[in-house]
Amino acid sequence: MPELPEVQALAERLAPVLVGDRVERVVALSFSGLKTVAPRPEELVAKTVARVGRRGKFLVIEVEDGLRLLVHLGQAGRLDLESPPRSTRPKGGLFRLGLSGGVALLVREHGRERKAGWWVLAPGEDGPLAALGPEAGSQAFAELVMRAAGKERLHTWLRDQRVVAGLGRGHTDDVLNRAGLSPFATPGRLDAGERDRLVSSVREVLAEALARERRRTGGLSAASLGDRFAVHNRKGEPCPRCGTPIASVSFSTYEIDYCSRCQTGGRVLADRRLSRLLR
Ligand SMILES: [Zn+2]
Repeated sequence: MPELPEVQALAERLAPVLVGDRVERVVALSFSGLKTVAPRPEELVAKTVARVGRRGKFLVIEVEDGLRLLVHLGQAGRLDLESPPRSTRPKGGLFRLGLSGGVALLVREHGRERKAGWWVLAPGEDGPLAALGPEAGSQAFAELVMRAAGKERLHTWLRDQRVVAGLGRGHTDDVLNRAGLSPFATPGRLDAGERDRLVSSVREVLAEALARERRRTGGLSAASLGDRFAVHNRKGEPCPRCGTPIASVSFSTYEIDYCSRCQTGGRVLADRRLSRLLR
């Protein structure tokens, strides 16, 4: 669930804690979470953290010599700062990174979905970052929207990290509501005004979320982050623009929340999960 603003604010909070400290230990807590074989995580040990940043929804921790540790929290990944560090093996744990300043970073995953992951990249390697599209909200993204000609559903297109990096289900629901666009609209058929609204809505939604996230302290460990959206996860509650109850269309593993008045011209989108069962 953490998307661009949540990971950006997390990186900003972690930087002053981590940068300048030496990595003292890296403990893998599960077999499945580590997505790279070489370099081995132990190669991070005794190196000083040089930078903490973000690309798309990836947290990027760079140590001296250019080795990078990437973390993707997926749907239910959480990151805790432990001070003093513990040595427990918590349920859903991915790894623990112990630092010379007496703090450890614990990454774990709630629930049963195993989507969170971590990577150790050699200098100059980009790993999964190489496949990412431009950052959501960037000028490159604005230009992409202006010339987009695809036939995918807009909601799917915006969440495709190869197209644009940083948006997930939550902020995409809010962006489309703000822009007054149907989740099922196709990028190629948007008119100039709609494209403008899409670009500005992405910028506004991300900026507001980032401002909100910057008030958070510590790691990113709340079990639920779903209450910070205007439209996402708010089925039945009033649309922030017009007051109409928010509608929802379900897919097998997720749902899209939208306003039928502001976004789909009164049309209720067919429930995909149900219609597949009935077919
Ligand atoms: Zn509305």
